[in-house]
Amino acid sequence: MTDTPLQLFNSLTRKLEPFEPVHPGEARVYTCGPTVYNYPHIGNMRAYVFADVLGRTLSWKGYKLTHIINITDVGHLTDDADAGEDKMEKMAAQKAQSIWDIARHYTEAYWADVKALNIREPAKWSVATDYIEDMLEFAKQIAPEHCYELESGLYFDVSTVDDYGKLARAVTEEGEGRIETVEGKRNAADFAIWRKTPPGETRQMEWDSPWGRGAPGWHLECSVMGGKLLGFPFDIHTGGIDHREIHHPNEIAQNQAYCCTDGLNVAENSGAKIWMHNNFLVERSGKMSKSSGEFLRLQLLVDKGYHPLAYRMMCLQAHYRSELEFSWEGLEAALTRLKRMMMAVESLKSRHAELVSASMPNSEPWVRAEGWTLKQVQGDDWGKLGAAVAKFDAALGDDLNTAIALTALEDALATKKVEPATKLALVGAMDSVLGLNLFNLTRADLRIRPRDAQITEAEIEAQLAERKEARDAKDFARSDALRDELAAKGVEVMDGDPLGWEWKLGS
Ligand code: AMP
Ligand code: ZN
Repeated sequence: MTDTPLQLFNSLTRKLEPFEPVHPGEARVYTCGPTVYNYPHIGNMRAYVFADVLGRTLSWKGYKLTHIINITDVGHLTDDADAGEDKMEKMAAQKAQSIWDIARHYTEAYWADVKALNIREPAKWSVATDYIEDMLEFAKQIAPEHCYELESGLYFDVSTVDDYGKLARAVTEEGEGRIETVEGKRNAADFAIWRKTPPGETRQMEWDSPWGRGAPGWHLECSVMGGKLLGFPFDIHTGGIDHREIHHPNEIAQNQAYCCTDGLNVAENSGAKIWMHNNFLVERSGKMSKSSGEFLRLQLLVDKGYHPLAYRMMCLQAHYRSELEFSWEGLEAALTRLKRMMMAVESLKSRHAELVSASMPNSEPWVRAEGWTLKQVQGDDWGKLGAAVAKFDAALGDDLNTAIALTALEDALATKKVEPATKLALVGAMDSVLGLNLFNLTRADLRIRPRDAQITEAEIEAQLAERKEARDAKDFARSDALRDELAAKGVEVMDGDPLGWEWKLGS
């Protein structure tokens, strides 16, 4: 079995390209993080599940990963192109709270979703306002050759860099006209590097600069933190597909300007070699826009009784470059698939426990699950499981095809006549990439269990035990009465459930 090369789709070239690290053996990745003026919606979280799978795949392939995700707590306007208000200032005014409190609250909410979705922590969460000094230094360096000042701030002249907008491939189209909202801009696509506080106003977040008191433009922070923490050029930059149109072309223009004035003289240097974008999660009724105020949060899924990892499964079932439509039926189907996997692991664990005495050291092969790489998998004797490993590795190597990788995991689970310990170790290795937490999930976790349920699991189990006794004694009247009693409390007894799941709580 050979190690499949990792091919990734580069938005810059719109082609699959082999991953060739800038620093041998390493992978340095920057992901545009959330703007913390509101809760993240599940669409936003799709972007981080994708970045997580990318990072885990790079680890599986044996690269030493350095992953940075930023927290945008300043600069992002209600319109991506320098129009409207700062999202953070606006929410702080609405809630009559300090921006810092708003930022802290929503950053923590975002981290809670990250944890619930089993997204690995990056090497660093870089917070934009911690890098204001660096942003000023960066801006000072590019200003003489690439920027001009207007009353409202310092602007980047996009005609000063080669090939502006090659990432978006849309600059010359008339659509670009829609972003000419600031009077006096030289080119429609020019954007703010520094936004001056208008005379007579004070902002909660403002700093002194050579261009007056104000705040950085949104695009500046990612160039600065990416370059400072990972070094230009780094390997991969990720974000949602909306960023391919404005935010990332502007970041690239800044990086080009900075790298040239820094003496690197790499005109086409974009800051990162590969730019990757996840497509959107969409919802037919349009409840996916954070700025519209009404949107689907992970917490809503949990309140309705779904385990968050069912949503992770839903994301993994689609390719990251395809649009994914959210539906409750789709979520339930993803949950069912997760249940099947969890049950297969559960039965492997109990078969393994029967075979091995509990006192034996290393009797739990899945504890080795963290930190797997393909090479370790190849190093073991996988016998019948080799085909599944090869399929899994090839799927990930093919631009992170998690949909196929999931079927490879199912192939492994279905392979007959393999020692449970061997299978468990392989499942652990595969799950180190998929991140479904298969060894720790329990049946109780995966039961649909709405938050407002009035009955505890123990009460349900007690009534079900009583019902079983009644049925065994052929007392069907009693058994039906107990069933109705449970139904009145929202518990649906699932006698014929193919997964043997016994009961669920309805909403
Ligand atoms: P924001 O907090 O608005 O800056 O967005 C955080 C991340 O979510 C960015 O990478 C966006 O591109 C991404 N994003 C926004 N909406 C969606 C969506 N509906 N589906 C997938 N990704 C999204
Ligand atoms: Zn960014």
